[in-house]
Amino acid sequence: MTAMPARSDTGDPLLLTPGPLTTSASVKQAMVHDWGSRDAAFLAINRMVLDKVVELAGGQGTHVTVPVQGSGTFAVEAMITSFVPRTGKLLVLINGAYGQRALKIAQIAGRAAAALETPEDTPPDLARLERMLAEDKAISHVFAVHCETTSGILNPIAEIAALVERQGRRLLVDSMSAFGALEIDARQIRYDALAASSNKCLEGVPGLGFVICRREALADCKGNATTLVLDLFDQAEAFARTGQYRFTPPIHVIVALGKAIEEHAAEGGVGGRGKRYRDNARVLIDGMRAMGFRTLLPDRLQAPIIVTFHMPTDPKFVFQRFYDSLKDRGYVIYPGKLTVADSFRIGCIGRLYPEHMKGALAAVREVLDEMRVSNGGPALAAE
Ligand SMILES: *Cc1c(COP(=O)(O)O)cnc(C)c1O
Repeated sequence: MTAMPARSDTGDPLLLTPGPLTTSASVKQAMVHDWGSRDAAFLAINRMVLDKVVELAGGQGTHVTVPVQGSGTFAVEAMITSFVPRTGKLLVLINGAYGQRALKIAQIAGRAAAALETPEDTPPDLARLERMLAEDKAISHVFAVHCETTSGILNPIAEIAALVERQGRRLLVDSMSAFGALEIDARQIRYDALAASSNKCLEGVPGLGFVICRREALADCKGNATTLVLDLFDQAEAFARTGQYRFTPPIHVIVALGKAIEEHAAEGGVGGRGKRYRDNARVLIDGMRAMGFRTLLPDRLQAPIIVTFHMPTDPKFVFQRFYDSLKDRGYVIYPGKLTVADSFRIGCIGRLYPEHMKGALAAVREVLDEMRVSNGGPALAAE
C-alpha cells in the first residue's frame, strides 16, 4: 500500500455503509454549541426541520412530521404501535431484515399480524397481496419497506399504495433508506404514515427518527399507543400545545439536521440528492462488474442506495482480509446479511461523490491483486 488512505473532509475513513454515514464538516460543525430544550433559537430550528420534512414529502397542509428521539427503528416502532389499534391487524410485506423487524415489533406489541414474504431479491407479489386483502377482512393496515436496505432492492411503493387504497386499507411505509433521495410524493402516493430518520439520505447525524403522518389518520390514533415514549398522537398534541418535546430532545442532532437540510436544498433537493446517488451507484456497479463482481439484483430492481455483490468464489478471496485492507485504505464497506446468497454490500449514500467511488474501485483492485484474486465473480473464471 503506497498512497495515503482516503479521508472525509474531517479526516475520517469514508463510510460506504447503509448508515450512519459520512457527513459534511459543516453538519458536524453545527453541533458545537449548547442550547436549552426551551431555547427559542433551538425551537425555531426544530420547527423549520419538521416543516421542511413535510415539504420534502409533498405533504404541506395535509401531513405533519412527528419526531421520535432515537434511531430509525424507534420511529418504525412508534409508527406501528401508534397507528395500528389494539384491535387492528397488520400485514407486513417482507423481503429483507427490515420487514422481518416490523413483524417482530407488531408481535411484541401484541398486535395481530400476518406476513407476505418473498425472497430478498424479489419484490412483493402484488397479486397475492390483493388476494390476502380480499380474503382477510381483519387486516386493517399494510406495512411496506420502500428501499429494503438488506439487499438494496427498490420495492414498488406506488403500486402497493394504489392497491392498498383500492382495497380500503391503510398503508404504513418504512422509507428510512430512501427518503430525501428517492421521490415519494404524498400527493400521489397515499399513506397514513411514513417513517425515516436524520442519518440516511438527509445526511445528518444519527439520533432522530421521524414519522410523516397524514393529519386525518393521526387524529384517529388517540389511545392506540402501547408505550408512553413512542406515542405519536401524544407527541403531536404536545407540539400543538407547547411547541416542545415531551422528553429531552437530541438537540445537537436536530440542529445538525437543520444544517443538513439546508445543504440538501442547496444540492437541488430530492432530485439533486438522488442524482448524485445514482451517479455514485452507476460508477460503482460498472466498475465492480468490470472486475468480475456480480450484483445480486438486476439494474431494474436496484435502488441507488446500497449495492449487494455476490461473494467471489475464488478460494484465495478472504472477506475479512478484503474488508480490513479496504478499511486501511480509507473505505469502510459492509458485510451482507442475506439468506439467499453469501454477499457483501457497498453503500452509495452520504457525503460521497463519484470520485470517492472511483477511489474505492481502485482500492478494491489493489486488494484483489494483493490476494492474487484475478476475478471477483461468484463463479471461477477460466484462467
Ligand atoms: C436504517 C434502516 C432502518 C432503521 O435502522 P436504525 O438502525 O434503527 O437506524 C429501518 N428501516 C430501513 C429500511 C433502514 O434502512
